[in-house]
Amino acid sequence: MATQMFIGGTWTDGMAKQTQRVTSPATGEPLGEVPISTAADIDAAVKAAKKAQRELDAMTVFERSALCHRVAELLESRVDELARELALEQGKPFATEAREEIHHSAGNFRLHAEEGIRLDTEVMPSETRGKLLFTLRKPIGIYALITPWNFPLLIPAELAAPALVTGNAVILKPSEFTPLIAARLVEICEQAGFPPGSVNLVYGARETGEALVTHPGVTGIAFVGSAATGEAIVRAAGLKRTMIEASGNGPQIVLEDADIDAAASAAVRGAAFTAGQVCVATERVLVQRKVHEQFVERLLEEARNVVLGNPLDPKTTMGPLNNEPTAAKMDRHLSDSLKKGGKLLLGGERASGFPTKLYYPMTVVDSVGTDQLLFREESFGPVLPITTFASDDEAIALANDSDLGLQAAVFTSSLKRAFRYVHEIRAGNLQINESTCYFEGRPPFGGAAGTKSGWGRIQIQDFTDLRTISIDYEHARN
Ligand code: ADP
Repeated sequence: MATQMFIGGTWTDGMAKQTQRVTSPATGEPLGEVPISTAADIDAAVKAAKKAQRELDAMTVFERSALCHRVAELLESRVDELARELALEQGKPFATEAREEIHHSAGNFRLHAEEGIRLDTEVMPSETRGKLLFTLRKPIGIYALITPWNFPLLIPAELAAPALVTGNAVILKPSEFTPLIAARLVEICEQAGFPPGSVNLVYGARETGEALVTHPGVTGIAFVGSAATGEAIVRAAGLKRTMIEASGNGPQIVLEDADIDAAASAAVRGAAFTAGQVCVATERVLVQRKVHEQFVERLLEEARNVVLGNPLDPKTTMGPLNNEPTAAKMDRHLSDSLKKGGKLLLGGERASGFPTKLYYPMTVVDSVGTDQLLFREESFGPVLPITTFASDDEAIALANDSDLGLQAAVFTSSLKRAFRYVHEIRAGNLQINESTCYFEGRPPFGGAAGTKSGWGRIQIQDFTDLRTISIDYEHARN
């Protein structure tokens, strides 16, 4: 099946000279093909977006909100069909994850439809008699949405919904690994009745992304992906509005007074969900020495319950990795660890007997030192590296010994100790007695200052430009 670009309300091959094939990580079968957008296609998308954006701006927020509600309804009406496509293209299990992603995507449109109409601004007293000051939120204009392959429907939805309800036109460039499911979202936005040009879709990898970021007509960039790419985008974007949500290296800290069963099951959930390919995955487990043995025993029991398999099989609880570079990174991190003294307790290499080489079993490594890649970098796979510590001071130092600061979790039964971590852990999101990968759509979400996890809090306000207006009602002539 060939999927086309969507520019100015028309499905088109544009000026593409090349196409890109999409293969299922689960079955190895070809799923489709997309045209690679050229600079001329980006120009056409920007032109169409500009025209549509004026129309969107002229609509009331209630009108835009109704369109977002319609997108949510359409998504909900196609859950099983979309979840199946998502499972085959991304690799996540249909029953336990893919269906949920469609519901959450719909939920995001519903949430922002409501947030949009409640985005009030202020009236302020003026220093001058006869004057009134007030603020207005205007759309940023044309938002490029550059998205990754781990949540290839949810992340575009998370960004498109607040952008559209506040009156921005968007140009979506999905990941080159998962462009097909993104096209479904665009198709649904079209069906919902957004004016042609409000939602455009272009394809390609880094080059297409760069062309969007540097195009003078693109006024905002919302990006979710790796820290290195986030940094490259910010450099290229200059003073344009950017929203960057990048990598994490989330530690789960287990204190001696923790509920060990709950901590073990949360750690496995945090590393097995989407096969660990989540920015808020449990990337490191820091365990207090006193409970190390007991925790590891429970962790292994939980980890052995993870069922690796075809994402469409209802028994499967973890699918394959999405792509070869990610699997190769797992190989590299594990071999580095074993060379440097890591002790392999479970898994450790790609599983055989599956249709592709991307199936990685749940892996547990003990005695992971701070010099190992497993500790230092985001592994983005189903691996739990364990490091032990003796005191809270040491745990906090280990947790903060990373240039990524997106999320962390601490398991303890002491409120006093928990609050020390609240204040001293450098992470944008901290879960207490919950997995690092706990996530809700409404609260702000993003990295901590001073780290390379970015600064996007992905809040509706970020899609608007706050303007201050003064009005002189004393001297007005009519
Ligand atoms: P990952 O593949 O680890 O999710 P990337 O950061 O490589 O993360 O990719 C995320 C998104 O950024 C993808 O859509 C990708 O095509 C795009 N991208 C990659 N490099 C650039 C770049 N230099 N400028 C803009 N977009 C880019």
